Amino acid sequence: MDIKKLRDEALKELLGAKNLEELEKLEIKYLGRKGVLTDVLKQLKEMTAEMRGKIGAAANQLKHELGSTFERRKKEIKAALDNKKEWVDVSAPGHKLIRGHLNPRTLVLRKVEEIFLSLGFSVIDSTEMESDYYNFQALNFPKDHPARDMQDTFYLTDELLMRTQTSPNQVRFMEHHNPPLRVIVPGKVFRRDASDATHESQFYQVEGLMVDKHISIGNFKAVIEEFFKRLFGKEVKMRLRPSYFPFTEPSFEPDISCTFCEGKGCRVCKGTGWLEMAGAGMVHPFVFKSAGYSPYEWQGFAFGFGLDRLVMMKYRINDMRLLNFGDLRFLKQF
Ligand SMILES: [Zn+2]
Repeated sequence: MDIKKLRDEALKELLGAKNLEELEKLEIKYLGRKGVLTDVLKQLKEMTAEMRGKIGAAANQLKHELGSTFERRKKEIKAALDNKKEWVDVSAPGHKLIRGHLNPRTLVLRKVEEIFLSLGFSVIDSTEMESDYYNFQALNFPKDHPARDMQDTFYLTDELLMRTQTSPNQVRFMEHHNPPLRVIVPGKVFRRDASDATHESQFYQVEGLMVDKHISIGNFKAVIEEFFKRLFGKEVKMRLRPSYFPFTEPSFEPDISCTFCEGKGCRVCKGTGWLEMAGAGMVHPFVFKSAGYSPYEWQGFAFGFGLDRLVMMKYRINDMRLLNFGDLRFLKQF
């Protein structure tokens, strides 16, 4: 019975154990009820008294030594595991944060504001709830005016409503500011329209107003052509079609050459080569009077774009409703 050899083997295996499972197996192998060392101690009975004393002492000593070595190794392995958990590799690449981004409507609005700011316009905030007076009466829509029918309105009370256009801000702004002035007023407007690919009950307009002495349709054309050129990043042709709005005289609707087919005619422009973009006109003397300006002294033009329409044109989106849904498959494309 070579206790020394047994000791060397056991310690070698024990110190080589890499984890707690290996260590446990070894513990059973050497110190378990049917383990190697237990076996040795059982054999003592069959030995002579002299051998029993000698080997028995050595075997018991080894049993203690292995026992304490097992305990020590267990602690060491556990400590190593704990350290591993807290260890941070500062040189490893970080987890990428998933960032959202702006709705295409916001992207276009920012571009619109940037262009008009560079042309000397200010951007004005406004309210979505409006009075009948500013939304209609001050703009030359008396109570029974048939043009009110074109703007099916959400009334909150007899006098309060959700604005059907951003135009009430013409009079609101002029009441508190002296000319000359140039402003745009972007914002949400509301109409009782059924929802389809090109209509929503809530949509965005960008109102524009420029007032000065000697303002003509020529000024309007210059500003708007420059605006479209910068927004779409290419030359566009413009034409003015006569139209009617109670608060402008004369009134017109600017069309621009189709940005899809360069004016040749396509599905988007319904073969005409032109796209309707806005309502516009020279500010009606009635509106100047509402604001307390003298129509003999001041002139100006006003316009209102559908912002959603600009977004659809710029990004070639064929359904306006997509702008209002939070569908990530759509929104992630911009
Ligand atoms: Zn076209």
